[in-house]
Amino acid sequence: MGGRLLCRYRHNYGAYKMSELAKNEFGEKWAAIEVKDAFLQHGTRFESFYCAFCDIPVSPVACYGDEFVKAPHFAKLKSDHADLCPYGKAGLVAYGINRKSTSATYKFEVDLPERLVPIRAARAGTTPKAIKPSPNYPSDDEIKTRVKDSAGNLEIANQYTTSLLRTLAAARRTALSQLYKLPEAKKLADDAKALNNFVFGELAKAPLKLYEEKTNYKNAFHGIGKKPWNGRFIYFGDAKASQSPTGFTLTAENGPPNEPPLTIRMPVSVHVKCDISHPVNLMERKTNECLLECIATDAKVYWFAYGALVLNEARDGYELRVELPEHIYVSTKKP
Ligand SMILES: [Zn+2]
Repeated sequence: MGGRLLCRYRHNYGAYKMSELAKNEFGEKWAAIEVKDAFLQHGTRFESFYCAFCDIPVSPVACYGDEFVKAPHFAKLKSDHADLCPYGKAGLVAYGINRKSTSATYKFEVDLPERLVPIRAARAGTTPKAIKPSPNYPSDDEIKTRVKDSAGNLEIANQYTTSLLRTLAAARRTALSQLYKLPEAKKLADDAKALNNFVFGELAKAPLKLYEEKTNYKNAFHGIGKKPWNGRFIYFGDAKASQSPTGFTLTAENGPPNEPPLTIRMPVSVHVKCDISHPVNLMERKTNECLLECIATDAKVYWFAYGALVLNEARDGYELRVELPEHIYVSTKKP
């Protein structure tokens, strides 16, 4: 492979076309990635967005979809950003913020989120009054002040993060399907082991941080059937769902093996905490609907869950506890 990186971790941003931090009609600053998370989690849609620094109208792209396609961002509409705007000619670099370079070159058209972060707090109870930015665009000094005041926000907006496991699961699935289609992979079609080594070797080159834990797209994810792992990961598998006093339990029989000699597969129980009759948000409602459907039809559920897989007290099975709706993704379709 001659040191070429297979994955293109981020979109190659056109120099002045895209931006990732904007103000909504209430004057609140939102990163495009947060807009997408809020849409998936709560169904939130804002009416309009303006550049956080120079007030030109911008439009959310790849923010209001149900599917993972590419990194959410804001595109300018008619007017260009002000020259001094970090999204204008000045660029983020002028303000000491460097985008991670997208040196990777292969034909691998997928933007992979780089980090799992805590979800943005829900909006305050009172709805703020919609505001429109003044028709006079801000002065150069005002733009500089705004950038200084939001340096932290800007840094976050500049990193492709997500707070939803669902987005990471979709990103990985897209990456895998693209990797298997590469000519290099097709050459290995007759050798399953070599093919897997190739595909997962490339996946391992895509960095991912799970909160503060540095890992990659291979090691962050574990099917439940292998050795018991230590730490918090994104586990996946299939299971039968049932209701429990605190929500649902997903039960899989093909979990990690027992202690050496590692001959017997132990069952895994994923305990999903949720309020079935009063879901806290859209994401929890969708999880509930999917699991109730699986129970009603006695169908398998395919799941991804973030957390630690630990031996239960009786030492006859493993458990994973999911407390947050954004830490579980379930589907009736095989991923
Ligand atoms: Zn701007």
